[in-house]
Amino acid sequence: MFELDTLLRNNIRNLVPYSSARDEFKGSSGIFLDANENSMGAPLNNGMDRLNRYPDPLQAGLKKKISEIKGVPVGNIFLGNGSDEAIDILYRAFCNPGKDNVILAPPTYGMYEVSARVNDVEVREVPLTTDFQLDLEGIARSLSSLEGDTEGRTKLIFLCSPNNPTGNSLDRKDIEVILNNFNGVVVVDEAYINFSKQKSFVYELNEYPNLVILQTFSKAWGMAGLRIGMAFASEEIIAVMNKIKPPYNINEASQHLALKALENMEQVNSWIKAIVAERENLASQLGAMKMVKRIFPSDANFLLVKTEDAGNLYQYLVSKGIVVRDRSKITGCEGCLRITVGTQEENKKLMAVLNSYK
Ligand SMILES: *Cc1c(COP(=O)(O)O)cnc(C)c1O
Repeated sequence: MFELDTLLRNNIRNLVPYSSARDEFKGSSGIFLDANENSMGAPLNNGMDRLNRYPDPLQAGLKKKISEIKGVPVGNIFLGNGSDEAIDILYRAFCNPGKDNVILAPPTYGMYEVSARVNDVEVREVPLTTDFQLDLEGIARSLSSLEGDTEGRTKLIFLCSPNNPTGNSLDRKDIEVILNNFNGVVVVDEAYINFSKQKSFVYELNEYPNLVILQTFSKAWGMAGLRIGMAFASEEIIAVMNKIKPPYNINEASQHLALKALENMEQVNSWIKAIVAERENLASQLGAMKMVKRIFPSDANFLLVKTEDAGNLYQYLVSKGIVVRDRSKITGCEGCLRITVGTQEENKKLMAVLNSYK
């Protein structure tokens, strides 16, 4: 049985959240003398007329729009200053520092581990199999029981699908096995879901009270600079996350610009198609190169490429002004570079430079 109340840290269960001035008064017009803002205005002239005011702490307008696009009720949506903020908040909500632990399945997104270490949470690594799938037996062995003792428990499991840096999707059945059998919180990071044919888990929120899904505006949606990450979960989990977050975690400019950008969904969708087509194109060109030993199947906007001499190749590319990600020292990714799919023009240049190597 999943019991949110017993999973939470005591200090979080008992936390009385900061009540901001804008929490107390919900109206949008009036004379605001409650928050010590500058009533004169902001020294900017850029079409946004509210920058002298604190932003909406719960981002109602932006969430309403996301709710329409995703088909998920507003009460099941959390917005963070990037997904990275949501990851950190999940650790702070559930994991007692120096006691509880998290299960990670490397090679995977580095922030899960960094954020665990910042929060002094023990990391239990259960590496992906050689075809980058979950080792269910290994995970079952590494779990510390949630029964009985309230200390030193496995509170969180992070699953990334499609996975960064490997690019593949995790087997949906395996994720379901974990959701059905683990009584802690299962975080499914879908940062790259828009590039994949896989179905998102957001439609299963009602099935799994222990499910948290992460998505982001930073990748397919083309807004990495705005720093907006989304978490989808039960209303109860979302309420806990909102209680922990800093009151004004998404600034007014980001809320305003994201809302405007979401009117251009057609643009986003056509870019996604173009990126997927470029990905396949790039994969076949790279595959024809002698120094490329392997290209891993990708459901994302990047390719993990195993090459001869990855470290030197990386340096060579840098010397030609092309920056890729060197993952060659990461266990499971030996000899690999992670290459983001660029524009057609950029990919052409990449291929030209690669063909001039040695
Ligand atoms: C890029 C990425 C994110 C996005 O993080 P933001 O803080 O929202 O920019 C999240 N998860 C994974 C696996 C990523 O690769």
